[in-house]
Amino acid sequence: MSKVQLPNTKLFINNEWVESVSGKKFKTFNPVNEELICEVSEGDKADVDIAVKAAREALENGEWSKMTSEDRGRIILKFADLIEKHKDNLAQLETLDNGKPLTASKGYDITQSEKTLRYFGGWADKIQGKTIPISNEYTSITRHEPIGVVALIVAWNYPCMLLCWKLGPALAAGCTIVAKPSEFTPLTALYLCELIKEAGFPPGVFNLVNGFGATVGSALSHHMDIDKISFTGSTITGRLIMEGAAKSNLKPVTLELGGKSPNIFFNDCDVNHIAQCAKDYVFANSMQSCCAPSRFFVQENIYEAFLQIFTENIKLLKVGDPNVNGTNLGPLVSKQQHDRVLGYIQKGKEEGATCHLGGGNYHHADGKGYFVQPTIFTNVTDDMTICKEEIFGPVVVILPFKTVDEVIKRANNTTYGLAAGVWTKDISLALNVSNKLKSGSVWINEYYSIMPSIPFGGYKQSGIGRDLSEYAIQSYLSVKAVTIAHKTLHAQQQ
Ligand code: NAD
Repeated sequence: MSKVQLPNTKLFINNEWVESVSGKKFKTFNPVNEELICEVSEGDKADVDIAVKAAREALENGEWSKMTSEDRGRIILKFADLIEKHKDNLAQLETLDNGKPLTASKGYDITQSEKTLRYFGGWADKIQGKTIPISNEYTSITRHEPIGVVALIVAWNYPCMLLCWKLGPALAAGCTIVAKPSEFTPLTALYLCELIKEAGFPPGVFNLVNGFGATVGSALSHHMDIDKISFTGSTITGRLIMEGAAKSNLKPVTLELGGKSPNIFFNDCDVNHIAQCAKDYVFANSMQSCCAPSRFFVQENIYEAFLQIFTENIKLLKVGDPNVNGTNLGPLVSKQQHDRVLGYIQKGKEEGATCHLGGGNYHHADGKGYFVQPTIFTNVTDDMTICKEEIFGPVVVILPFKTVDEVIKRANNTTYGLAAGVWTKDISLALNVSNKLKSGSVWINEYYSIMPSIPFGGYKQSGIGRDLSEYAIQSYLSVKAVTIAHKTLHAQQQ
């Protein structure tokens, strides 16, 4: 591994690195060894005001506002090229700050960031309105205009990728941006700033204000001169953001929130899939994923075999240093997250579930780091806390079921509705079940099929609106209807 290059750690406004008004800094730590990585400039409301002004000026009077959509697309594609060029360093930074395995940072997070920007770069010159047929006496057209200055607030679980999911459509639509990464993982977003400048985005198009949710995040959601907020994070914070939007200028919000996703295995599923899912994806990102398959529903005839194959394969997963090739689970992102997950495990035991595997701290070589063992619970009832609440850590519950109707009802028995997996060789069954599941994504004989061209978002309290795909672009546009009455024109000509 080459030595990682740390980014500039100031605020990024108008394509310049600037100190925060208060001069304050906050610390970011390496979750593997709990050591300080560096200090980062801490923004506040005053910095948000400066960044919003820069974004407003770029939107209304700057070079960006006059640029053709083709040129906008070209710069976005250049940005994607630069992410590809800097992939190694970005991946190392992500692993350093977040703790996820380096192979995942490089092979998934940064690769997806680049692919997402490439996809949206291609969209920039294909955004167009409609002509609406009314009668021979009227012509009505719609113009799809950038919604304006947008705030992008994201979580720590996929720091670079989640930001790029929002940057892509916002930039393609012609918006200008003030972004706030999570205070737990500020580094890759800071590194992107230099690439943004090098790609050729004019000053003020992208501005970055690091800091805390209660200060920077809240200032953004309450701001009177921000036209839209796109947020990824917890449902609790999503409510606060919506409240801020409602109490200020009624800005629209896109909210990508939590989940408690069901993964349903029917009797006829391919047994190889059980092993494959255990090895390849269940504990990906240590299940710090909004759509992590945390509730496994297994039909009764295969329950015992499932549990055996699943457990054997989970036992093969390697927990440890995320920089070492072959590590499947690194540490959780922070001490708070580590303690929160262990708290849920304890609660599961207290409420009478059986801890079938794992269930505690994983002790890394020097006893440092926020590691948790991959954990499986059985003998779980639907009303137990571990079956209802989002744990956001490496914990699954395995629940047997008998009938199709039963599993649909139980899978939908949650306040969330982000994703679901359905495993069966019977495609009619799979489609019927997927039609009845109340979730934004359903994956059949796969899981985590997330791609730039496929919309991603939640039903119920998992969110509002969609990231990715053409659907995401719509939420960064304002539709203006321009209607021309021909009759009036004729009258004036006579
Ligand atoms: P969080 O809600 O605590 O923080 C997310 C972001 O919001 C951070 O940048 C934080 O600083 C900011 N924030 C906190 N308080 C705020 C406030 N009052 N006003 C404005 N901003 C504020 O979430 P987290 O712990 O960083 O991330 C984990 C959560 O994110 C989980 O619930 C997970 O399911 C969810 N998530 C959802 C998706 C999705 O696409 N649906 C993807 C990833 C993560």
